[in-house]
Amino acid sequence: MSADSNDAPGSGEQARLDALEGLSIVYTPAEERFDRITRLAARLLRAPIATVSLVGARQTWFKSRHGMRLSEVPRRDGFAPWAIRADGPFVVPDALADQRFTCCGMVTGEPHARAYAGVALRAPDGSRIGALGVIDTVPRAFEPEDLSALRDLASMAEDQLRHMELTSAQAALARELDDARRRILIDPLTQAWNRAGLDALLAREVEFATDRGRPFALAMIDIDHFKAVNDTHGHPAGDGILVEFAERLRVAARPQDAVCRFGGEEFVVLLPGCAPDDAPLVADRIRRRIAADPFRISPDESVPLTCSVGVASWARGEDPSVLVMRADVALYDAKRAGRDRVNVAAPLRAPSSGTRAGSSRSYHPDP
Ligand code: GH3
Ligand code: MG
Ligand code: MG
Repeated sequence: MSADSNDAPGSGEQARLDALEGLSIVYTPAEERFDRITRLAARLLRAPIATVSLVGARQTWFKSRHGMRLSEVPRRDGFAPWAIRADGPFVVPDALADQRFTCCGMVTGEPHARAYAGVALRAPDGSRIGALGVIDTVPRAFEPEDLSALRDLASMAEDQLRHMELTSAQAALARELDDARRRILIDPLTQAWNRAGLDALLAREVEFATDRGRPFALAMIDIDHFKAVNDTHGHPAGDGILVEFAERLRVAARPQDAVCRFGGEEFVVLLPGCAPDDAPLVADRIRRRIAADPFRISPDESVPLTCSVGVASWARGEDPSVLVMRADVALYDAKRAGRDRVNVAAPLRAPSSGTRAGSSRSYHPDP
């Protein structure tokens, strides 16, 4: 039997795909609430890789992937399409000894899977839309207690599928767009919104803020001396750091915040509902989270890193591009002042008030 037999669309398959589409979750950014589950799955089952996979008509897409860079694979190249058809956990102790998987892309190429265990994930209507799985790069057995832990974690992932926790602007954007349109708004390396995604979110956030009088702010974050990391450890190690950097931003930010990769080693965290006094607190929590632990680039090598942050709060009527520019100027001031710090953009005032748009002050948290 070939893996392609999984592609045959039956009426059950169409209902399953409809349920998946109804969730508007494919090609949405990574979220800490799912990353937490894959981290736990990898740790509990002592596996290097864990994924929350969603099985579409042609692709398997990873809502969360711990220990792996792939963001999606053709359907025939993944394990999840098999896991969603199994009654109970689906286990492959040695992929190279199993004809169904000897030509599977995740086995012959990245991440060079040799063993897999996965449990189907059900949408609220009961359709099996994906799987929580762990992957090992060596053949191995999975003990009954491993599979029992995986089942528990899969239930937790299903709970998370029951509600979208993205902010109103993020959820609205996810619902408005189909998979193909969402896809071009996500950075495949970090699974954060990309710059086009940020622009789309900002436009909606301004609408919400204007209609409901809700404040919002943004933090522009740039890794300090990142070029030196690339020069010393190589570009692939730098890429790995960018992935972890985005993960740490998601951990430090609030669930409703949107993490965006603005470009290169620069990120923006959009802070909906965040009052001007609170934004520097959130930004400083992010800064401290980055500096707290070095970034692991191999089993025996870590790199300490810091970042600089510029924060700006939206002023009624302000064009989003001006808000971004003010945060950028505050960030630039933080760099000049010595890096590893948060700078707050001056509130936007009319030119006649004498305040230079874009001037900033450094933020010093209370001890
Ligand atoms: P500063 O503290 O002033 O920000 O110094 P910096 O070295 O971080 O800044 P600079 O702008 O000189 O260099 C940014 C570096 O980020 C250079 C580039 O190689 C690296 N970079 C940008 N995008 C990527 C990427 O996608 N992957 C990797 N590995 N590196 C990247
Ligand atoms: Mg930098
Ligand atoms: Mg930069």
